[in-house]
Amino acid sequence: MSKQGNIGVTSENIFPIIKKFLYSDHEIFLREIVSNAVDATQKLKTLASVGEYKGELGDQSIRIKTDEKAGTLTVSDRGIGMTAEEIDKYINQIAFSGAEEFVEKYKNDAASIIGHFGLGFYSTFMVSKKVEIVTRSSKDGAVPMKWSCEGNPEYVLEETEKETIGTDIILHIDDENKEFLDKDRISSLLKKYCRFLPIPIVFGKKQEWKDGKYADTEEDNIVNDTRPAWVRKPSELTDEDYKKFYRDLYPASDEPLFWIHLNVDYPFNLTGILYFPRIKSNIDLNRNKIQLFSNQVFVTDSVEGIVPEFLTLLHGVLDSPDIPLNVSRSYLQSDQNVKKISNHITKKVADRLEEIFKNDRPQFEEKWDSLKLFIQYGMLSEEKFYERATKFALLKDTDGKYYTFDEYKTLVKENQTNKDGQLIYLYTNSTEEQYSYIQAARDKGYSVLLMDGQLDVHAIGQLEQKFEKTQFVRVDSDTTENIIRKNDVNKVALTDDQREALQEVFKSQMPKMEKAEFYVTFEALGENANPVMLTQSEYMRRMREMSAMQPGMSFYGEMPDSYNIVLNTEHALIKKVVADEETACTAELSPVVADIKGWEARQTDLRNKQNKKKDEEISSAEKEDLENTNRKLDELREQRSKILSEYAAGNSLIHELIDLALLGNGMLKGEALSKFIQRSVQLIG
Ligand code: ADP
Repeated sequence: MSKQGNIGVTSENIFPIIKKFLYSDHEIFLREIVSNAVDATQKLKTLASVGEYKGELGDQSIRIKTDEKAGTLTVSDRGIGMTAEEIDKYINQIAFSGAEEFVEKYKNDAASIIGHFGLGFYSTFMVSKKVEIVTRSSKDGAVPMKWSCEGNPEYVLEETEKETIGTDIILHIDDENKEFLDKDRISSLLKKYCRFLPIPIVFGKKQEWKDGKYADTEEDNIVNDTRPAWVRKPSELTDEDYKKFYRDLYPASDEPLFWIHLNVDYPFNLTGILYFPRIKSNIDLNRNKIQLFSNQVFVTDSVEGIVPEFLTLLHGVLDSPDIPLNVSRSYLQSDQNVKKISNHITKKVADRLEEIFKNDRPQFEEKWDSLKLFIQYGMLSEEKFYERATKFALLKDTDGKYYTFDEYKTLVKENQTNKDGQLIYLYTNSTEEQYSYIQAARDKGYSVLLMDGQLDVHAIGQLEQKFEKTQFVRVDSDTTENIIRKNDVNKVALTDDQREALQEVFKSQMPKMEKAEFYVTFEALGENANPVMLTQSEYMRRMREMSAMQPGMSFYGEMPDSYNIVLNTEHALIKKVVADEETACTAELSPVVADIKGWEARQTDLRNKQNKKKDEEISSAEKEDLENTNRKLDELREQRSKILSEYAAGNSLIHELIDLALLGNGMLKGEALSKFIQRSVQLIG
């Protein structure tokens, strides 16, 4: 029998479309024909196992050969084969309507067209000028057939000779795609797509080093592992097996922390092994390493849309025939099956973490620092995961002790609730730089958390929203007295004049720093507390930190850091600064201050009068009077500032106090530091 005919497609000719539009992923043709061969082989095995096929199965390996001279690539299987009728039905009649329109729409997404329209076999025409199928069906008495087609709608189907049951697909590679005759290229494609296929794939012979070069041995070179770890039973596998599989997948990675072996068959089918990698600091470097398989055929290593964003940080493999693998990403995201799978994985991951936490807390704690980023990311991005993770997420204090959220609350509730009933969680992001603040807090019996991770700023924001009446405050944002205020503030015993003078003497001597501003404030902290401290408002600092991470908030990012120099008015040294300043400056200062007061009274008076009038009712003489008064006041204030700052410039106690405050905050550096050392030596001597 020999037959000629036209391939049954609605469109005139799909071949130009295949060639022209499906350009992006030419290489996937190999995956398509090899997985067809696997299917055919498995089908025959099944038939044999139920007794419907009674012949010998023989060596069922799939063999791939390249022949550079003939320009062919051949994939041979010993599977079920096809009868003439089957070729007609499965190869000649392609259910393909509205082809051009569709292809135009998805022209950059070859994979989706190929899978969607069952064009798997026809993808061979992306790289071939002619394709032949030589096949012998396993059905009793089936005649071997040869089908050939030269990339146009006409095909030839004729009887042929073939000894064994199965199919050879022979591709006559076209001139533009010669690369697919190259052994190394085919080797690497087989490694990419066929590495874990369930039927042995043979490509050439194993080689050995002989007489100064590599030479073929007698042994077949099997390129795949037909029973990769994820298809085996967890009970069959040792820890070392899991680790080895991880090394096979990611040869350059550190050992994983834990793994989860997934095995679901209802309501969807999913197997796989997910590994928790050691994530040190950079999230992005670790992303997107999960490999997706469909019945052991590699599909993609980009799993966005299939697993929740934070799980893309995990490594490993997922295998599911239920994930519609060859459709567009946006379709994936709305697919119900995908949603279910994604929720299931999230749940499993949380369960596994909880299990390890419960069964082996020391191990969990030991690995926490490497897990933290991943868990926080999950808590921030998936509400469901947050809820589950509250059972095992940990907080770490500056002693390196770990607490669950509940444990920590119990620990600090008593001592760290302020007078307004707010629970204050103190934290530091640098035990080095904030050492003195941490120490001061601990002296008061407070606990300080270490929050120095990449996502801690966000995590803090989230926990404040979730926890009731709880605030996170960095240890250096206020004085130790104020940071958790238990009772009302002590009154600062300073006159207005004294306040203004103190403000001037300190502010005028603060170093000029780029992007830093200083404000002088007063507090009565008791004679034993530090005389001077530098603090930074929690709110402003957080705004800046958030803005550094989020575009569109640069307003805060560009603002200078604002620091408070807090003077403890009850400390003897501050009292001494006040007294010394008064002794040294009063004579010169009091006439100026008296003048200021006089002019201020006049200013208030003038303003009051003018405020009562409408603008047009105020005479120009009156306006001028106020302007003169303002100018006079400016001059006098400047005079006062000058007297005070000149005095302060020569006062080593003031400088020493400022430097100590800066030093306590890690801000005394360079020349300023060396001046401080010199001055301190002199003061001691
Ligand atoms: P799909 O594999 O998605 O069904 P293909 O275009 O790749 O689409 O293949 C069409 C059909 O041709 C297959 O379903 C199968 O029945 C048949 N076929 C393809 N390759 C083989 C093979 N190597 N052995 C037996 N049958 C095959």
